[in-house]
Amino acid sequence: MGEAGFQRGPGGRPDFDPESYRDDLVAIIREIESLPEVDGAALAGVLRRHPRDGRGFFSRAQLIAGFRHFATQEGFESREEDFVRQIAMRPVRSQSGVTPVTVLTKPFPCPGRCIFCPNDVRMPKSYLSDEPGAQRAANNRFDPYLQTWNRLAAFRDIGHPTEKIELIVLGGTWSFYPEAYQVGFIERCFEAMNDFGEGVDRRSEALPDARDFSTLPGRVDGRQGSL
Ligand code: SF4
Repeated sequence: MGEAGFQRGPGGRPDFDPESYRDDLVAIIREIESLPEVDGAALAGVLRRHPRDGRGFFSRAQLIAGFRHFATQEGFESREEDFVRQIAMRPVRSQSGVTPVTVLTKPFPCPGRCIFCPNDVRMPKSYLSDEPGAQRAANNRFDPYLQTWNRLAAFRDIGHPTEKIELIVLGGTWSFYPEAYQVGFIERCFEAMNDFGEGVDRRSEALPDARDFSTLPGRVDGRQGSL
């Protein structure tokens, strides 16, 4: 059982249920709307007055989720895009309006014999499982659809634009993967981007096919790793 108000979504991403925090979220949104200017200090003050579960702070993503959930019923003064802009983090990663979405190919060996290169059979060759990007990929079982869709959702939740995407494919040695895998991987990334843009969510169809590499033993020789 997860934290109050959360449940696990496909790919292991926690989904937030605004209904569990209706009073606090509506109060926070109304206070933010009443502020002449929303800077970091003002926002922190509002969040301190309405702690989540009496101790924690609501994240920006949760505020945005609350705004979307209650907007029709509560009739907020702001438009969604104005509210998101008010509370969004500085768009450092998407200053140009292009949001980078990084995905990893599945664990796979490499014919190289570079002695410095990590060997972790749970990761594509040369990656370590404790790197944040690698962990995100592992949580999505390296499935290209899940990785892409969930990353886009995460960016949208914190107010980043998702209309223009720079897709960055990382992994071991791309040219050593079978061609069918290469083509299929890219196709699924595009399907996820198209689906996300059209409001279609087919993540539940992806999960049954996604292998859980985390169940493999940790460090073995990645040159002979799993396929
Ligand atoms: S991925 Fe392969 S080629 Fe690249 S550093 Fe590692 S062993 Fe060498």
